[in-house]
Amino acid sequence: AHAGVRRLRAYDPGHDLVALRRRFGAGELVELGSNENPYGPSPRVREAVLAAMGDLHRYPDPLGGDLKRALAATHGVEAARILLGNGSHELLMQFAQVFAAPGADVVASQYGFAVYALAAQAAGADFVAAPAYGREHAMPRGHDLDAIAAAISLTTRLVYLANPNNPTGTWFGADALKPLLARVPDTTLVVVDEAYAEMADAPDYASALPLLAEHPNLIVTRTFSKAYALAGLRIGYAIAHPDLIAVMERVRESFNVNALGLAAAEAALGDVEHLRTTCEANARERAALAAALHERGIVCAPSQTNFLLAEFGADSIALERELVARGAVLRPMAGYGLPDSLRITVGDAAENARLLRILDEVRA
Ligand code: PMP
Repeated sequence: AHAGVRRLRAYDPGHDLVALRRRFGAGELVELGSNENPYGPSPRVREAVLAAMGDLHRYPDPLGGDLKRALAATHGVEAARILLGNGSHELLMQFAQVFAAPGADVVASQYGFAVYALAAQAAGADFVAAPAYGREHAMPRGHDLDAIAAAISLTTRLVYLANPNNPTGTWFGADALKPLLARVPDTTLVVVDEAYAEMADAPDYASALPLLAEHPNLIVTRTFSKAYALAGLRIGYAIAHPDLIAVMERVRESFNVNALGLAAAEAALGDVEHLRTTCEANARERAALAAALHERGIVCAPSQTNFLLAEFGADSIALERELVARGAVLRPMAGYGLPDSLRITVGDAAENARLLRILDEVRA
């Protein structure tokens, strides 16, 4: 393997959730570590998946035509602008494999989503982390797009920006993105990862989708794992210039997206009402959980996602272990260079109440 791969470590889920579920009993474990959607997918998904079960001996549609057309209609773009992936994670990795190489570099923010550095290293490219905003900024540890622009050079093939970002929950608007897009060379691709976009409702948040028409080097990625609650079926997609999508279509695995996932995603996309009510419930619970943590003296970064980055201070590593021992799973942030913080997925009202109870017991 090349040096980039030799330096990599395999994905560490932190905890063996299967073992923990067995130990605490089904439904007893408070699972708030992976930014999953507690409300589940639209009821239409179940019907669509059951219907698709009749054809499990067939390969899935390698073109994903029905889902691409449905997505094209939803976003008001041509189907030739859409690429489907086995989760958006697959696509984020593949962009680096195709467009970056040894000698090239990949730029992202210091506290950007972990997959970006991984994608760069796996492709043998150099990873450049641009400094993030400080803790006192209105978007603590969020993307500083000026610093990102300054880190881009002629050897930069790819820039990854998550908006809103995981693990910080922070976001930016079009006023921040437009000058960056104006500055980057045409040979640099800008990937805006909008995994949590459907959950964002702040007036100063803006999707990059309307900018695609003017910027052939812009790629927007989305997923069915978060707002659509289909993490288990692994469907993500990218929207970009048709020429760029055509290049990606050459290298992707022919059947990268599974049949149940295709059927489920199309059904989920059609249930706009379910999407709306679950995103509203998430926003409500997010505010309530942030307020409850604030009452306990725990500071959270502002979030437009389904998780909160919470500062627990120097005790956070020991605290996390105690929480797991009592059946509450959060995500430690030491791997992100944020050892004082834990990332808390916003659960439903009952899960959040149980988490707070366990937290109070541990901190008493
Ligand atoms: N981007 C961001 C910012 C994420 O948080 C995640 C999931 N944690 C992903 C992409 C990947 O999601 P998926 O592969 O399930 O689409």
